[in-house]
Amino acid sequence: MESDTKLNKQNPFLDGTHDPSLISWLDSANGHPLFSIHNLPFGVFKDSDGVRKCCVAIGDYVINLHGLWAERPFTGQGEVGLEALTDTSLNRFMSLGREVSKKFRQSLSQALTLGSDCEPLIRRALLPMSDVSLCLPCQIGDYTDFYTSIHHATSVGKLFRPDNPLLPNYQWLPIGYHGRASSIHPSGTMVYRPVGQCLNPDTQTPKLKATAKLDYEVELGIFIGQPTRAFEAVTIEHAEEHFFGVCMLNDWSARDIQAWEYQPLGPFLSKNFMTSISPWVVTAEALAPFRVPPTHYANRPKVVTLESNENSAFGGINIQMTCQISTAQMRKNGIPAIKLSQTSFKHAFWTINQMISHHTQTGCNLNSGDLLGSGTQSGPNAEEAGSLIEITRGGQEVIALPENEFRGFLEDGDEIELSGFCESENGLRIGLGTVVGRIAPALSSANFSQQGGV
Ligand code: CA
Repeated sequence: MESDTKLNKQNPFLDGTHDPSLISWLDSANGHPLFSIHNLPFGVFKDSDGVRKCCVAIGDYVINLHGLWAERPFTGQGEVGLEALTDTSLNRFMSLGREVSKKFRQSLSQALTLGSDCEPLIRRALLPMSDVSLCLPCQIGDYTDFYTSIHHATSVGKLFRPDNPLLPNYQWLPIGYHGRASSIHPSGTMVYRPVGQCLNPDTQTPKLKATAKLDYEVELGIFIGQPTRAFEAVTIEHAEEHFFGVCMLNDWSARDIQAWEYQPLGPFLSKNFMTSISPWVVTAEALAPFRVPPTHYANRPKVVTLESNENSAFGGINIQMTCQISTAQMRKNGIPAIKLSQTSFKHAFWTINQMISHHTQTGCNLNSGDLLGSGTQSGPNAEEAGSLIEITRGGQEVIALPENEFRGFLEDGDEIELSGFCESENGLRIGLGTVVGRIAPALSSANFSQQGGV
């Protein structure tokens, strides 16, 4: 295909699966806003017996990959990949590396293209998407949260340290902390308002209470594919080999707990109660057409260990990320959710490959299915702020919602929906789907009603 050749000269990640003219025999896939033939994201669903099975989203359906294996539609690396996808999670498939996921994608794309002999085989493995219940896509052994938006880091830094918002290390290395994998939950899981120690400004003594400053954070989740070796640093040139795919991630945060606990070692209980992720994993291959040069930041120091020609040309990804809120009252009165912000991951100060490479610099190994959070993604403009603490300046400038509701931070019954999508000038569009969480009252209020100190 001539168009492919042309595109390939500019972007080494493109192949025939990104041809905008591809049409599927499955009508609902053509023009689908999320799950066109150009996307093919992976997920895991529970069947009617409660058994977890890997699947791919296409149009209004999912392909049950366990069922598809029985049809033996593929050969070579495509077959190797499909066999690994008969597991109850994506981990083994992720571990096989980019060559297998690329070949599997090519096999599946061809099988879904109009005129393919595989149509009857695939049709037998289709399930209506509305019938499936999605789980976490893999076993997440470790979770690390980065801080890659310089706009977020600066505006939050101003609230915590007005005189010194951006610390000098920020531009020299990707800041992050090791988070909790055990409290990562799939979209739709209720978010119970956490209880924690907060400083009482009147008495200057801490008090245990339900957080009054519950917030969301709009983040990209990044899954590790092929594992890295223990005691070996992954250079920036090889980091891409370990990048499997992305999801939307909401790093729920309790700002009053955070303000009291965060020094000197960083976030702890203010973040560990819950992290929500969208159920679909959009692969690095599907993101290829949306690779862009990282945003230029003037006077940025050159960190030679985290620079490469490929990173300079294609390190960024233009993923649009939006955040919506609906309150209990809005839903009761039939008022649709309203948008709080929209930004793009292309503004990130550090790229995915820089995060991966830096994470392994000491020899710390990354395993298949490990999750990296990008940190809150805020763009350069006010309407691109990815958390309430930025939008309301720490709760001081409340936002007005319909019907005389106001918010500094989240109230019980509020629902936050993050969604992501990519669009290209030549008409390609793929979606990451959504991660939704609704706030419920604290579970343990009976245990902390005492009026004294902690
Ligand atoms: Ca975060």
